[in-house]
Amino acid sequence: MTSEWLPQHWSIRTKSAALVAGYVVALLAVFGGLTGSLLRSEATQATGRLRQTAELVAAELDSYVDAGRQRLLTVSRLPGLTYGLRSMEGAAGEGRIPPWTTLHYLFYGSPVFTGGVFLVDRGGKVLWSEPPGRSWIGASLADDGTITTAVGRGEEVISKRRKADLLFDSPYVLVAAPVRNPDGQVDGVLAGIVDLGAPQLIDRLRAVSPSEGRLVDLLDESATIIASSDGKRDRSFSNEQEWMLASVPLARAPWTVRMAQPRAIALAEVWRFQRELLVLGLAILLSAIAIGTPIINGFARDLGKLTESAETMAQGDLSQPVVLGRRRDEIGTLATSLDQMRVELLQSRAALERRVQERDELIQLKEAFLANISHELRTPLNAIIGYNDMLVDRDLDAEAQELTAAVRRQSEHLYHLLSELLTLSGLNLNTIELEVAPVRVQALIARLKPLAERLAHAKPIEVTWDCPPSLPTIETDPLRLEQVLANLINNAFKFTTAGAVTIRVAQSSSQQIVFEVTDTGIGIPAAELSHIFDEFRQVDLSLTNVFGGVGLGLAVVKRMTALLHGQVNVTSRLGGGSTFTVTLPLQFQEDEPQ
Ligand code: ADP
Repeated sequence: MTSEWLPQHWSIRTKSAALVAGYVVALLAVFGGLTGSLLRSEATQATGRLRQTAELVAAELDSYVDAGRQRLLTVSRLPGLTYGLRSMEGAAGEGRIPPWTTLHYLFYGSPVFTGGVFLVDRGGKVLWSEPPGRSWIGASLADDGTITTAVGRGEEVISKRRKADLLFDSPYVLVAAPVRNPDGQVDGVLAGIVDLGAPQLIDRLRAVSPSEGRLVDLLDESATIIASSDGKRDRSFSNEQEWMLASVPLARAPWTVRMAQPRAIALAEVWRFQRELLVLGLAILLSAIAIGTPIINGFARDLGKLTESAETMAQGDLSQPVVLGRRRDEIGTLATSLDQMRVELLQSRAALERRVQERDELIQLKEAFLANISHELRTPLNAIIGYNDMLVDRDLDAEAQELTAAVRRQSEHLYHLLSELLTLSGLNLNTIELEVAPVRVQALIARLKPLAERLAHAKPIEVTWDCPPSLPTIETDPLRLEQVLANLINNAFKFTTAGAVTIRVAQSSSQQIVFEVTDTGIGIPAAELSHIFDEFRQVDLSLTNVFGGVGLGLAVVKRMTALLHGQVNVTSRLGGGSTFTVTLPLQFQEDEPQ
């Protein structure tokens, strides 16, 4: 995989770590998405099941409550009851009138009104009860809200949850049905007490609840718990996340069945599956890291070794073999190739060194030969000049004088050439010994002035010396420097027919001095500029022939300047003149030859 989208400067290890981190994020995203949707669908299904159960309980409760209510309503509408009520009002007390025995029978052991049934007259006075003999018979319920509402509205009323009071000693709900006379007026109320703690009711709530942590509550209109499968009257599900809820209203009473189940139980399966998946994912990841880390480390280590080897080779040390152990993969192949390359480089370097040595030896031989020949030729040439001079002293005719002068001129030219050849071969053979000493620049210039004057003598050339008296003393070989400058001055006059030659010396920095020889002569073609320092190089201009020379002067200048740890440069314009610049250090450093 290419790492185009990863920063280029990251190491292989960092990139691998980034990849692992990427995989973990991707894994978590897939894991989160998968288990999240699983959880949602399971939660929906569990809520559906809870609602179905709540509906069953509600239907069961409906029929339970309805059975009691129907009986109460039916009996309250019996004509005999109105009659009985009237006659009873005049009677001394309950139980004395035989028809009520039937009433007792009707409500005896009612499974709904487990707290009992009673009859009050329109004024609220309790006239009768089942079971009989209640202490509150004869008491007045004129202030009881449920009773007065039933009388006032003339219809059935189901109370909210009522706390224990005179009528019943634990929480209960009162169902009150008005008793009407044939004229339609309400004569009294027949009421039943639903004991909210009675097993007949609670068992119906409990029938489905205990399994899987389910709770069933029965709520009244104001959402107060009136009965509960676990007997608690007070419960809140403020933390909706922990519970799943389903509420179903009853059809026959203003009550609601609310079922609740802890999510932890309802979704236990999915959560277990989620945990298992997470553990599995982590296990896979850890084993991938455990297996991958040594591989990546191996790569990084071996690539590090290869880089090290390549760097060593780049520094010129080809003696260290590239060894990577027993790797047989691409990196192994790379290592083998690198080692082959090293061996081949080693061989070609050795061959090259041999060649260079041979060439050096050849050059040395040639130079030595040249030096020898030059030296050998100079001696007879000296003799020729001497003999010729002896001839000049004789009384010669004009033609002979012209000939001896020509012999003298040509011999001197030859002598000059041989001297330069000797100098150059000496430079090439490095046999020249420098004699470095502190040199006063002004003194050096003073020694060059006669040469310039002599050269300027025959031509209309103006010579200018621009050498401030403040010039420092420099450390160099004075004779060699003089020779360099003499060659440049010589050329300046040689290639200028008329005009000006300027010699300028200046300290260019705290460590350097610059000698500049400028002429207004014929100039050098741009294409030739880079070659004029070569040996035996003469610019091919018909003009140049006139000036003589063999093309060694600048070669000597260049070699000599280099020996003095300096540089020579030229700028020139064809027909406009040339400037040669020699830059030298003020201090001669023995240990840094150039
Ligand atoms: P030579 O002995 O022929 O002068 P040099 O090595 O001194 O040889 O110079 C090489 C060539 O560079 C010369 O032949 C000439 O063409 C050119 N040259 C050198 N100095 C100058 C100058 N001051 N002006 C013009 N041409 C020059």
